[in-house]
Amino acid sequence: MKKIIIAIDGFSSTGKSTIAKQLAKSLNYIYVDTGAMYRAVTYFAFHNQLIGEGFFHSEKLIKALDDIHITFKFNKELEFAEVYLNGKNIERDIRTLKISKYVSPVATISDVRQKLVEQQQLMGKDKGIVMDGRDIGTVVFPNAELKIFMTASAETRAKRRFKELLERGHNLSYDEVLENVTTRDRIDSTRKDSPLVKAKDAIEIDNSNLTIEAQLERLLKLAKAML
Ligand code: C5P
Repeated sequence: MKKIIIAIDGFSSTGKSTIAKQLAKSLNYIYVDTGAMYRAVTYFAFHNQLIGEGFFHSEKLIKALDDIHITFKFNKELEFAEVYLNGKNIERDIRTLKISKYVSPVATISDVRQKLVEQQQLMGKDKGIVMDGRDIGTVVFPNAELKIFMTASAETRAKRRFKELLERGHNLSYDEVLENVTTRDRIDSTRKDSPLVKAKDAIEIDNSNLTIEAQLERLLKLAKAML
C-alpha cells in the first residue's frame, strides 16, 4: 500500500500531538514529536549550564551539539515513542514550564535546527510517518502529501496546557501558562530561520470547538484520500 508523509504544524498547545499520535496509530504509521527534540536540546543545555537565568551561551551549545544524541523508543503501555537523550528517558522532564520557557530561544539557533531537521528527514525517508512541529510542511518535508495547520484561540490553548500541567502535578498559575504560550508563539513566528507559518498548500483546522473524535475523523478522511 502507498505510504505518505503527514506534516502537522501549528502554534503551541493546539493539540497537534494528541491528534497526530491517534492518526499515526489508526494508519499504523510512525509518529514523531519534533517539539520533543527541541526540548531535549534545551534540557541538555540547561543541565550543562549552557543556558539559565540571565545567561545564554549559544556558541558553547553549538560546539556541544555533537554530544547530543536524541532517540525515540516505543513504549507499549503508553502507545507512543518516548524521547531519550544520550540513552536516558527524558520524556517527562522536558514537559516542565522551565524547559518551555527556554525552548523557543534555543529553537532560533540555526545550527540546532540544521541538526534536528537532518535527523527528522532521515526518520521520514521511508514515508509512513506523521510528524508534528512548526516547520514540517515548510522546511522538513516541503513535499509532504498531506499538510495540516492547526489553530485554536490562545485562551483555549492555555487552558488545555494548564489542565495538562496540573494533571501532571505541576504547581503553577493559569497566567504563567498563558504568558508562556503567547511568548513562544511570538518567538516561533518571528524568528529568522524557519519561522512558524502556514505552508501555502496546508489545510487549516481550527479545533477550538472540535472534539478529538471529530478531528481524527476529518484527518483520516483527508489521509485516506491520498492513499
Ligand atoms: O511542540 P512543542 O510545544 O513541544 O515545541 C516546543 C518548542 O520547540 C516550540 O515552541 C518551538 O520553539 C520549537 N519547535 C520548533 N520547530 C519544530 C518543533 C518545535 O522550533 N518543528
